[in-house]
Amino acid sequence: MRIERIEALYEPCNCGSRCRHFNGGNYHERIYLLQYRGQLYAFYTDTREFFPSDNNTIYVREDGILDIDNTKWVEPLDDPFAPCKQGDMITPITKKDWNKIKKEKLREGWTYYEPFSKKEVSQ
Ligand SMILES: [Zn+2]
Repeated sequence: MRIERIEALYEPCNCGSRCRHFNGGNYHERIYLLQYRGQLYAFYTDTREFFPSDNNTIYVREDGILDIDNTKWVEPLDDPFAPCKQGDMITPITKKDWNKIKKEKLREGWTYYEPFSKKEVSQ
């Protein structure tokens, strides 16, 4: 079972003429609305590239909820989306709470995307 991307919010780029948001230290926030087995999640990440020290993974807890851990004994999801970076966060969310976040971020000038193809896996 794959994690489905439903919507996304991107903080606007303020790098100017020289893009520094992949590996130059000027990272921009990205928030994804994900769905897994009927439950919605907010996934908080940024534009930073993966570093070798990024060994976090999304896994399914015993209660069926997705969580992030960097310990070796959790079974990572078999999904290209599961490996994630230090500092990434995932939390169950209701559509109502997501819409609140969306409204607030759009007011701050963020970009909104939908829907996401299941084939699209790059961050
Ligand atoms: Zn930028």
